[in-house]
Amino acid sequence: MTLDTTFLEEQRGRLQSHKEQLLTDLRSMSTQDPEDEENFTPSADEHTTEEGENALEVVELEAGSAIESELEEVLRDVDDALQKIEDGDYGICEDCGREIIKDRLVALPHARLCMECRK
Ligand SMILES: [Zn+2]
Repeated sequence: MTLDTTFLEEQRGRLQSHKEQLLTDLRSMSTQDPEDEENFTPSADEHTTEEGENALEVVELEAGSAIESELEEVLRDVDDALQKIEDGDYGICEDCGREIIKDRLVALPHARLCMECRK
């Protein structure tokens, strides 16, 4: 383990702000209760600007749950990464067990795999 404490603290900070962002996004999504979707009528004043905007809105609603589960997946990765920092095994590839290079961790703090295994 060659990652220094300063770097780990930086990564912890990045992960924590990423986590907060994810939680905010998930909260804003869950306010759109899927069970209410059938009764969902776009309010006229918000949707008068462009033609075809309502159609786009429907597509976005359908994609919503996929995006939500993707966010939940990332959230799990972020939580795991934070746990790994606690446990002292952060930055180790889950597949081959080698250290993940710093550049990759900076770009993707919750990376589970090294560049090689990612391929
Ligand atoms: Zn690997």
